Amino acid sequence: MLYNERHRGWAGLDLAWHGDRQMADPQARKTALAFMAHPDDAEILCAGTLVRLAEQGWEIHLATATSGDCGTTTETPWAISATRTAEARRAAALIGATYHCLDERDGLVVYDKPTVAKSLDLLRRIAPSLVFTHAARDYMMDHEMTSLLARAASFLYAAPNASAFPLIEGSCVPYLYYADPLDGLDPLGDPVVPTTWVDISEQLEKKTEMLALHTSQREWLRQHHGTDEYLDAMQRHAVSRGQEIGVTAAEAFVQHRGHGYPRDDLLTALFPSPA
Ligand SMILES: [Zn+2]
Repeated sequence: MLYNERHRGWAGLDLAWHGDRQMADPQARKTALAFMAHPDDAEILCAGTLVRLAEQGWEIHLATATSGDCGTTTETPWAISATRTAEARRAAALIGATYHCLDERDGLVVYDKPTVAKSLDLLRRIAPSLVFTHAARDYMMDHEMTSLLARAASFLYAAPNASAFPLIEGSCVPYLYYADPLDGLDPLGDPVVPTTWVDISEQLEKKTEMLALHTSQREWLRQHHGTDEYLDAMQRHAVSRGQEIGVTAAEAFVQHRGHGYPRDDLLTALFPSPA
């Protein structure tokens, strides 16, 4: 009996929730969130698109699951976290964006109740209408777990009972896009086929400036490779995605089009590629 009561109650909430979603128009709100695992992931994977959105008056938020506490060979976790948090803040500030951190640990990002709850609170406070996250299948598990967290939180954050934070008007199931996995390859080495390309030819310089502010990581790779591999690798990938649509540089995405999510391609509508 109790089970049936609960079941009916939940089913009722589910139906009411879908009714709400149809009323909240994700196109009415211009708030974008890049929710990634580590400081610098957004700069590598989707910052050019964030720059374009900021240029069009969008409010931009960058969030990371961790503060990058393993991104060092010499510092303590606390020292490198402080450094990388400051770097992420400065990069976000370059485009007027706000930086947030869930304060999880590198290599230990998991999809569990406390982390889902933190993610729901994060989205509840931002109320994004457009979310970027990692590819569902990527080279490391922090990325895949963050992708799941972003997906779960984006679906539910606007449901009244999903968080104790107040519900911001216009909260909705946002457009959700998965950025390229690193090198555009899935964990088995197969190339990802994008649904969406955004021309970032004119934003590549600013994207590079944002990434260059992650000095601790750039120096590490520079010492290791003897070249500025940190910036070079990002630019090589942007140029290679650009070639696919006949422009100097691009970022590519796969749009999440499952039940309940907006299925029209907002990014292509906002930034049509040259014919
Ligand atoms: Zn990462």
